[in-house]
Amino acid sequence: MSSWVAAVLGNLEIQNCDGISTTQLRDHLPKLLDDLAARLDRQSHDADADAKAHGYFRWKQGYHLSEVLQELALLRGILIGEMAQHSASSEATLATSLTVHAFLDDIVRISTVRFAEQQQAELQTLSNSRLGLLHTISHEVRNAVNAIHLVLEFHRDSDGLADREQDTHTLRRTVSHLRDLLDNLLDFARLSEGETKAERAIVDPAELAGELEATYRHSCEEAGLRFGVEVDPTLEKVESDPLKLRQISSNLLSNALKYTPQGGIALRLRSLDATRWALEVADTGMGIEPEFQTRLFEEFYRAPGTEKIHGTGLGLAITKRLVELLGGTIRVESKAGAGSTFAAILPKRL
Ligand code: ADP
Repeated sequence: MSSWVAAVLGNLEIQNCDGISTTQLRDHLPKLLDDLAARLDRQSHDADADAKAHGYFRWKQGYHLSEVLQELALLRGILIGEMAQHSASSEATLATSLTVHAFLDDIVRISTVRFAEQQQAELQTLSNSRLGLLHTISHEVRNAVNAIHLVLEFHRDSDGLADREQDTHTLRRTVSHLRDLLDNLLDFARLSEGETKAERAIVDPAELAGELEATYRHSCEEAGLRFGVEVDPTLEKVESDPLKLRQISSNLLSNALKYTPQGGIALRLRSLDATRWALEVADTGMGIEPEFQTRLFEEFYRAPGTEKIHGTGLGLAITKRLVELLGGTIRVESKAGAGSTFAAILPKRL
């Protein structure tokens, strides 16, 4: 086992073993060897459960298929070498080495098949989510085009006395929805493809809060909502991407505005520890039932009950990706009917 662990650690083609401990690396080997011993004792003609699970076990540790195969090739070399040294006769060596080869071939075969099946399942999930995406986009665009079509048809059939104001309103709302959808889709696609990069700069949290307050206080007051801003005095300047921070905050603040019929909204920027700070948006709005909270960051997901409120279901999916681009995580705490708090936990240095 120690020869094998040393060979794996020394093999440059197996990179993922660097991230796992030697204990983790050797953990599974005794089980494999037990299976091999059983095979040699002719108790079993089949690779046993532990041997079959070898590839799966390694994938959970982050291995690629080529690394699993390389690791097994090293094991094969060591076992055959050891046998050549210790076997009594060359006939015994031949018989034993045939069994060892057959055993390892079984593991290689099973690991490869499992790997292919797993890839297939991942591709299927991806393909399903792409189809879902296509379905939602087509549906949204068709609704918008239908609305425009209806207005135009009405004009063709009417005697010219149609309610122009109402039509203009419908057209404007529809076009604005389409534009939001397309802007969001473009942002989302760029972020998903990794095209968007973070532009590092020094950000003064108090300045950021001031700009956001200037943008949102008025809309809040117009909607009859209180708007509070708190900046932790111990939070010093951070290194981040100011534009992305503004986009994250704007997404969270516009959501808070949309989903809060009464009460207020608070923007809080605070230091968490030596390396992390939090950007929080809290509201006293409609809140989200626990069973829907886990899905909020999925693209196109909208919680039930929000159908009548303008939205594309992409804002939080984009926000999550932006927060991750800045090296952070996002979480939500919410109670239906009482309000929500969205918090982006970000590093102080990018
Ligand atoms: P959109 O607002 O365009 O629907 P988002 O991705 O920004 O899309 O949000 C997804 C869903 O999360 C919303 O449809 C809504 O159901 C829920 N949500 C987001 N923010 C809030 C909030 N502050 N309060 C209550 N629900 C929210």
